[in-house]
Amino acid sequence: MAGSSEVFVKAEIYEGFRVTRVVDLPSLRGQARQFEHVKTGAKLLHLSTDDSENLFSITFPTPPPDDTGLPHILEHAVLGGSKRFPLREPFFEMVKMSMATFINAMTSQAYTVYPIATNVKKDFFNLAEVYVDAVYFPELTEQTFRREGHHLTLEDNQNPTSKLKVSGIVYNEMKGAYSTPESLMYELASRGLYPDTPLGRDSGGDPDIIPELTYGQFKAFHQSLYHPSNSLIFLYGDIPTAEHLKFIAPTLDRFDRISSVIATPKQPRWTAPRTVNKPYPIGTGEDASARSFITLNWLIGDAMDPAEVTAWSVLDRILLGNEAAPLKRAIIDSNLGADLFFSGMFGAAWEYEFHVGIKGSEGDRSAAFETLVLGTLERLADATFDAGRVEAAFQQLSYATLEVTSQFPLRLLGFVNDAWPFGGDPLTFLRLSEHLEACHQRWQAEPDLFNRLIRERILGNPHRLTVVLTPDRQVQQQADDAFASKMAAKREAFSPVQIAEIAASADALQKAQGVANTPEQLARLPQLRASDLPQTPRNIPTTVSRIHGIQVLRNDVFSNGVNYLELDIDMAGLSPELYAILPRFCEAVGKFGAAGQSYETIAERRSSCTGGISCSAQVMRHASDPSQNLRRLRIGLKTLDGQIGPTLRLLADLIFSVDPRDKKRSVDVLEQTRAGYRTALVNDGMSTARRQAARGHSREAAIEHLFLSPPALRRIETLLNNFETVSDELIHQIEQVRDHLHNRNRWTISFTGSDNAFEILESMLKEWSARLSDQAVIDLPVPFEFFNTYPREGLAGPMKVAHCVKVMPAPHLSHPDVPLFSLGVYLARFDLLLPEIRFKGNAYGASASLDDGSGVFVISSYRDPNIVQTLAVFDRLGEWVDRAAWSQIDIDRSIIGSAKGVERPLRPGEATSLALTRFVRGDTDDFRKRRYQTALSATPKSVKSAMQEMFALYAPRSSVCVVSSREKLDDANAKLGAGALEISDILP
Ligand SMILES: [Zn+2]
Repeated sequence: MAGSSEVFVKAEIYEGFRVTRVVDLPSLRGQARQFEHVKTGAKLLHLSTDDSENLFSITFPTPPPDDTGLPHILEHAVLGGSKRFPLREPFFEMVKMSMATFINAMTSQAYTVYPIATNVKKDFFNLAEVYVDAVYFPELTEQTFRREGHHLTLEDNQNPTSKLKVSGIVYNEMKGAYSTPESLMYELASRGLYPDTPLGRDSGGDPDIIPELTYGQFKAFHQSLYHPSNSLIFLYGDIPTAEHLKFIAPTLDRFDRISSVIATPKQPRWTAPRTVNKPYPIGTGEDASARSFITLNWLIGDAMDPAEVTAWSVLDRILLGNEAAPLKRAIIDSNLGADLFFSGMFGAAWEYEFHVGIKGSEGDRSAAFETLVLGTLERLADATFDAGRVEAAFQQLSYATLEVTSQFPLRLLGFVNDAWPFGGDPLTFLRLSEHLEACHQRWQAEPDLFNRLIRERILGNPHRLTVVLTPDRQVQQQADDAFASKMAAKREAFSPVQIAEIAASADALQKAQGVANTPEQLARLPQLRASDLPQTPRNIPTTVSRIHGIQVLRNDVFSNGVNYLELDIDMAGLSPELYAILPRFCEAVGKFGAAGQSYETIAERRSSCTGGISCSAQVMRHASDPSQNLRRLRIGLKTLDGQIGPTLRLLADLIFSVDPRDKKRSVDVLEQTRAGYRTALVNDGMSTARRQAARGHSREAAIEHLFLSPPALRRIETLLNNFETVSDELIHQIEQVRDHLHNRNRWTISFTGSDNAFEILESMLKEWSARLSDQAVIDLPVPFEFFNTYPREGLAGPMKVAHCVKVMPAPHLSHPDVPLFSLGVYLARFDLLLPEIRFKGNAYGASASLDDGSGVFVISSYRDPNIVQTLAVFDRLGEWVDRAAWSQIDIDRSIIGSAKGVERPLRPGEATSLALTRFVRGDTDDFRKRRYQTALSATPKSVKSAMQEMFALYAPRSSVCVVSSREKLDDANAKLGAGALEISDILP
């Protein structure tokens, strides 16, 4: 058995911990060791394995008492300073200077978890030390509460007549979250099933309710729940268990046991279905047609019963798991809307749900949708499921039990927390493969198992909620007006003296955020030294060969019986107007038929033999040659050992003969894309702003803008509106792209997996090679115009916050100063942008990054209540660099923080893809090593002069884009004067 060879005897006591269980978990190649801390009752589980990426986590069950977001605000606040580390934001300081592969805190529906993971043992205990002190001994000052939670402030604290408003980081974060119909639907359709229990409340916080939370409630909540008696400590990795016990025991010993009664009350079941109709806001100029959302939602059962949950996961796959799955197909074919939405089985803490929904619909179609869904399920309950389809569902689910994914320890923590915080056995969902096997046997003994589940739990279940969300152009205005008059009334009730106090304390709060930690304060934090870093970056062991004329990389990374293949196809020479069609080609690969078979047949083949096939278009710069602009198509797949043959045959059918001629299918897919683009452009407003502002800085950025942007959405609309006349041209273009692929000199394959699978791949390559041409690849330059004036734009959409972005060109990766510039960018992010934009401005996020793939430097804010103030911070960056007085310690911290990407263990899927990208970009191990060593020898002076040189060159060429509501953009423009933004709508 893997894991450390320590022996723990049940019922014996080690370091004050009694052993409660020791179990081998062969499918995870480890041993689970469970303990209870005798004095306090704290529970500890170590999953001991050979993995060097160790995880430390503490979970507290925190069922929300109301909708004020208490658990969420507390989650933010405990990381804001503690007894032993009484400095400003120890969390962000540790993010900045540790090698953590993961460091964060998360509030789920009914628990709060504090995990860190790292590959460096010394770093592990450093981070754990800070986290343990943070959760058990936080300072929780009133200032922290006000900043993270909510506080009153004036629009302009220097002007006593300006408007009163509410601010706070969680307040703004949740305002951002509540902006979207998707999250509104989640609130209504999932929490709506539990009106009488904590699962019906919002642990994140409803922005309308957050301001009701008091500092006293906040402190009391911490005191009663963040206690060892209520602690679940999960550890993972190769650090010996004894060291963990020794580390944590002294802290726990300082507490006495309290009684911990976490109730997990079951929602009383309804006797009749319910319906909710709600408007959601869209912009005043937007088209409201085909913008409604309808969902049917059922409360199904007990989320801690693994047999039930597993059976439902299988049924979910059978009904909805691929393009040909019967319920999915019935919904798409009905044309009641554009695409499925919010569909499948979800767990909500101790209960679980089943949902079927549609987007891109009309509000008056809810009865028709209900009839369609119930009728289809009725029919399916009476029919016999095709055994192949059921086997395919089991096949799909087996990846979850085998795959060593990225963030693997965190994924295991997720499984543990599917049961542990609600009083369940923490190992329940770590035993997924056993449950799947048991479910398979159960199905063989009871062939009507899935029919019965449909009949009993869906059709015969009155605990059903129908939710209809319809677009409304007035509702935002009404909500804004109601809020404004509420604030006006509140303002009325305050005396001038009180208003002055509000302004003064909000001002003081802001000012306090601007003070950086002193070197003495920082020295209190346990930290790595630059000398703890390895001298060379971690490489992926890859062998490159040419097999039957095709370039093949084979990566030697453990992959646990799953095989990963990624194919990179050089698109050089494609006629330039076809680049905009690449996403359509990828949709054809994912959703159409091929080789004379219908899309249904192809979808079934895909789900019976693969864990998925992906296709995407990529553009990037060559790593050492600035003149090379790489435009590629990427096709990736994963498959089990026994399935590699059929998988590769399917891949060949798709690449050689994908067939875009089914026009009915084409319309359905374009409608799905339109609905998807609409959601993506608004919900990921930061990326929308980034692509918009970057498009004239590099050829790569221009092509990315072609793929997804407001104009790309308009092109989809045009295709749909004129489908009859343009469809033949579209089909022809997709076929041109397809035929362009058939040249072996364009192909590079990256493979990770077993010898047996590799042999099958080799023989397949021989067949493929014979079908591919052997022409030289000649590029056709893609026409491109750099910005000649640098735009300042605003994109208006339905949202309550802003995403601000400033983009400038970046030096090419081959410039010798790039590693130094990157360190300066890292410091700017943590020392200027986060304090000014997050801590003072109360935005949820702020960042700066060098994107060497598309050749741009991007500064951004995320879910930001401010526009003018944030743009001013962006503009100060150059001056901040001029004034920076970094010490070698600052530089060392940024080296360590930046190096975490280099030391991160690569899991097989990610390694397959990254090895390929590095290879095609010419980013060799030698080149990476040179860059790494330049960083290791950085000094304050070299970083500063690299930054100054870059800013002198590039800052005058900056473009700006802000995505926000029309009102907020107009407001900002009133103050921006000559720098006003040119505003247009995101959505047509
Ligand atoms: Zn948060």
